[in-house]
Amino acid sequence: MKSAVLGGGLTGITLARLLHDRGSEVIVLEGNDRIGGLCRSRTEAGFTFDTGGSHIIFSRDSEVLSFMLSVLGENADHRKRNTKILYKGRYVKYPFENGLHDLPDEDRFFCINEFVRNLIAVEKGEVPPPTNFAEWIYFTFGRGIAECYMIPYNEKIWNYPVDRMSHHWVEGRIPRPPVEDIIRSAIGIETEGYVHQAVFSYPVKGGIEALVRAISEPVLPAIRTGFTVTSICEEGGRFALSNGHETVYADRLISTIPLQNLLPTLQGVPKEVQAACDALRYNSLCSVFIGLKGNVPDISWLYVPDEKTGLFNRISFPSNYSTAVAPPGHSSILAEITYNEGDAVSRMTDDGVIEHTVDSLIAAGFIPSHDAVVYTGVERQRFAYVVYDIDYLKNIAIVRDFCRERGIDLVGRFSQFEYLNMDGCIRSAIDFVEGYP
Ligand SMILES: Cc1cc2nc3c(=O)[nH]c(=O)nc-3n(C[C@H](O)[C@H](O)[C@H](O)COP(=O)(O)OP(=O)(O)OC[C@H]3O[C@@H](n4cnc5c(N)ncnc54)[C@H](O)[C@@H]3O)c2cc1C
Repeated sequence: MKSAVLGGGLTGITLARLLHDRGSEVIVLEGNDRIGGLCRSRTEAGFTFDTGGSHIIFSRDSEVLSFMLSVLGENADHRKRNTKILYKGRYVKYPFENGLHDLPDEDRFFCINEFVRNLIAVEKGEVPPPTNFAEWIYFTFGRGIAECYMIPYNEKIWNYPVDRMSHHWVEGRIPRPPVEDIIRSAIGIETEGYVHQAVFSYPVKGGIEALVRAISEPVLPAIRTGFTVTSICEEGGRFALSNGHETVYADRLISTIPLQNLLPTLQGVPKEVQAACDALRYNSLCSVFIGLKGNVPDISWLYVPDEKTGLFNRISFPSNYSTAVAPPGHSSILAEITYNEGDAVSRMTDDGVIEHTVDSLIAAGFIPSHDAVVYTGVERQRFAYVVYDIDYLKNIAIVRDFCRERGIDLVGRFSQFEYLNMDGCIRSAIDFVEGYP
């Protein structure tokens, strides 16, 4: 029984390794000329950057975390998270609710007063249960935290109005500290939120791609790169997978590629299934890489909710994850800008995006001057984040049912079409292989 895995990102490579470990025959078909997907990294001029945005290794799932760290072995650095939010020009500790003391007095009062008023109203049953993500934010945090941070930041990263997003996915993904911690943080008693990420790991060398490469080692001969699957047919009870020049046959098919890439390879897709797939919302990412002479602040990464500072929703400092990712005496910044086809960012040239980012970071004081910039680069990823709009659950059910009927298993971020981090992808792969006939 031979299995074909579509896509050689983290999920596809992990699936191949797990299937191989249990003695199954497997082939991975990856369209790009290198594996890694969103977890690719590039090294140029002595700087290593993650091309799908800044990645760190963390997990609440101890089995998955030890798998990731064990494959990396010596090639893993461990750092204490020092993450901030840039708010009105000052650093606020992350998560925002654990950093209220860092706010200007009036804003701190606004946040804590509204938090308490809202809490009482919710307890008394005066606030109806939320029906969308915006309402969930107000229901959970009150107007102050919502309007100072949660709403602007979320609208920036999702590039979509939060009152048109569903809230079914937030539990466990959005930090929600206990009430006592919010009050402690407002009066200046140190509290830590999102603790399973308080210490994170990162490959010493090679960027996040080193993780995928380490997982791939035992299965390298089973991986075909440069093989973009363009058609999938059934031939004599087997799957025939073609890239237009060559056909690979398999008994089982596991797709880790985006649903938007999978459906066009199939024949006879009903109109309502195609419409449901077309309605699934995602956003794209532009990663801007900047190599600098000298140092950057001692921060892991920084959330930037306001539009005034720049188009980026986050800047990270990879040279604070591992000293081997920048040349001696140098440091690095990675800025992330989300966008959608047709919007203003999608129309900007790469040079335009670099200029905007460097100028904004100089204005905000993160780069001393143009002379300090020794390297710049840009990469775009079409599929970056799943955006859970209001119709998501209805549409995804239609597409999943159709794939199940066609005998195609879906595992991975854009195949399950779920907000899965690396640990979630590996967990999905482990669970899938455990239940595999
Ligand atoms: C900005 C950002 C930051 C992130 N930070 C973190 C983090 O800090 N920690 C964390 O745990 N996770 C993080 N993630 C999530 C992480 O990147 C994903 O969970 C993971 O990389 C998804 O892997 P995947 O294999 O499921 O999908 P992908 O990486 O999307 O892989 C899919 C693969 O399919 C290939 N493909 C597509 N179409 C075809 C075709 N027709 N034929 C053949 N191949 C095809 C693609 O080339 C790609 O290699 C982040 C994600 C983003 C966007």
